[in-house]
Amino acid sequence: MKHCPICRGETDPAGDGLLKCRGCGLAFKGEKYFGSPVYQPGIEGDIYTGAKKELFDAALDRLQGLLRGPGRLLDVGCAGGDLLKTAAGRGWQGEGVEIDPALAGKAVEAGFKVYMSPVEAAGLEAAAYDAATVFEVFCLMGSPAEAVAGIYKALKPGGVIYIREFNAAFHLTLRRLELAGVFKPLGASPAVIHNFNFSPRSLRALLGRAGFRETQIRNSRPTSGDPYRTGGRLGGLFTGLLKFLYYRLAQALWYASFGRVYAGSSLIVTARK
Ligand SMILES: [Zn+2]
Repeated sequence: MKHCPICRGETDPAGDGLLKCRGCGLAFKGEKYFGSPVYQPGIEGDIYTGAKKELFDAALDRLQGLLRGPGRLLDVGCAGGDLLKTAAGRGWQGEGVEIDPALAGKAVEAGFKVYMSPVEAAGLEAAAYDAATVFEVFCLMGSPAEAVAGIYKALKPGGVIYIREFNAAFHLTLRRLELAGVFKPLGASPAVIHNFNFSPRSLRALLGRAGFRETQIRNSRPTSGDPYRTGGRLGGLFTGLLKFLYYRLAQALWYASFGRVYAGSSLIVTARK
């Protein structure tokens, strides 16, 4: 039986080739791959840019509040450099990490320094960055625990990591409904399952083990519209509306449970070195 790569806890099979940790709740693929996500051709622009602009602004607002201003930023999984561009417009000095050569090339063309290897092997300057952003990347990595240790090393003391990650509690539930055929009539496939599927508890374990403190987790606002084209016949506008209504419901649950229940489709996590 494989042990959890984050807390070394024992695991149980959870269907779909996933193993679930008894300790921290991480659900991960028993057979891993390492690489970039493959989306339908032509929608990358929507995924990386349009739908995320508001999320990038929210991230930078929060970081500027926590750090009392802009500084040196490392965007891990920077894709074509869209977050870095938004950050540069606000006075940040940004650098990226991106293992997909085509995407990394775009960020370089836009004028950013990009490390084209996994973050823990990138040879980053130690204690050099004020902030690191990690948007939906830990789920795809070969070793999130090594990556988070590499980011910890690269941050200045007091530096902040800002993570957006899919919420496994939400997506594994959706996947069970999907397998039961609930979404078939709509042609929708809303569940997002990756190498690593994090619950709030497993994200806390991941960060705590690397030495981070002051970990805070919130439900994330959804991306606008349907950038991943998972809504099928529901279309972009209606899927966008459903996602927003669901987010409001998740927030209501979070407040009603005094911050204990996270039902959102994605989570925002911040922690300090
Ligand atoms: Zn675990």
